[in-house]
Amino acid sequence: MVEKERICGLCGGKLKKITVGQVQEYSEDVGTVIFENVPALQCTECGEKWFEGQILEAMDAVLEEKPKPSRKIKISVPVYSLGTYPHLSG
Ligand SMILES: [Zn+2]
Repeated sequence: MVEKERICGLCGGKLKKITVGQVQEYSEDVGTVIFENVPALQCTECGEKWFEGQILEAMDAVLEEKPKPSRKIKISVPVYSLGTYPHLSG
């Protein structure tokens, strides 16, 4: 099978293959999940990340099967609400 060259859906730039860690937020009962070693495509122009359909399906499959996680970590992350950001009110 010949792999056709993929281009960025935003700017038309070339995509290169990368491997990323991906934080996915789901509904409250699932919560936040981190996927490691996720194959992705990144635009060499604008930097946008793209996931191929089969990768998204794989992530969905993991959530359905709920295998034992590779590891669990506790994280503390800052959350900003832009709704109250003074710069927005001009
Ligand atoms: Zn792009």
